[in-house]
Amino acid sequence: MYPLSYRRASSVDEARRLFQEASDAAYLAGGHTLLPTMKQRLAVHDVLVDLTRIEAMRGISVSGDTLTIGGGMTHAEVSESSEVKGAISSLAAMVGSIGDAQVRHRGTIGGSIANNDPAADYPSAALALAATIKTDSREIAADDFFTALYETALEEGEIVTGVSFRIPETAGYAKFRNPASRYPMAGVFVAKHKDGSVRVGVTGAGMEGAFRWHEAEEALAGNFSGEALAGISLDPGMMMGDIHGSPEYRANLVAVMAGRALANLGSAEAII
Ligand SMILES: Cc1cc2nc3c(=O)[nH]c(=O)nc-3n(C[C@H](O)[C@H](O)[C@H](O)COP(=O)(O)OP(=O)(O)OC[C@H]3O[C@@H](n4cnc5c(N)ncnc54)[C@H](O)[C@@H]3O)c2cc1C
Repeated sequence: MYPLSYRRASSVDEARRLFQEASDAAYLAGGHTLLPTMKQRLAVHDVLVDLTRIEAMRGISVSGDTLTIGGGMTHAEVSESSEVKGAISSLAAMVGSIGDAQVRHRGTIGGSIANNDPAADYPSAALALAATIKTDSREIAADDFFTALYETALEEGEIVTGVSFRIPETAGYAKFRNPASRYPMAGVFVAKHKDGSVRVGVTGAGMEGAFRWHEAEEALAGNFSGEALAGISLDPGMMMGDIHGSPEYRANLVAVMAGRALANLGSAEAII
């Protein structure tokens, strides 16, 4: 046993103050990553600052071509939201495919984005949908946010208060689950934007975490169909390899998932 204090913040400013007053605090959202990590002693904190009752981190809104989701919204709230389904149905479908019902009712978009698990679903959508991560002090483009495995551009104590996604002309998501963890071994989010640009976000497979597949984006900008991907391949040297799949296997899996995502544009179901 070691001493641990639990503090519930009612505003972003209060959360930040409680965090700064402690010697080694952590923010608590759904707790689905943080608590197992602490239980295994992979992380030790003296104070947990609960973000789940902060009203300013809740809500979902559409304004023009932008969908904004509060950092405290759970996966269940996002996937069931009529605003999200209406604006970006494939995002609702992707979020509805995260984990299981228990995970979706506790896990939050802010926690998922801040944690940047290399196999998390959200980062692929954030990259493909040119998301902006809003924090208590600034806005960060998704392209600059996910810096390495479990690493982000967040400074110590910075809070993800919301995420804005660019509403695309069309988009699709497909993933291949790891049969043990059920996290994606490769997940690909493909989006064609209203200015004609194409963005492809990949999760689960990259050695450095989620990434944009630029070669596929260029090919798809000319011909937005699975045929455009013929002859394009990823360098296995960039891919993760483990007991579940070699780098070569994952490189191929990404290409297969990209093709499936293109076959699934605008769908209310993620292809799994
Ligand atoms: C059994 C299981 C299966 C899962 N399957 C999947 C899956 O298939 N796909 C997937 O994408 N995810 C999956 N997850 C992860 C889950 O979806 C959560 O997104 C993830 O655990 C983090 O969100 P959380 O709200 O639980 O964050 P927490 O665990 O509370 O926090 C995670 C980290 O982020 C920090 N943090 C939390 N909120 C903020 C914030 N607003 N600002 C700054 N820092 C913050 C915390 O301090 C901590 O370091 C799974 C989890 C479990 C337990």
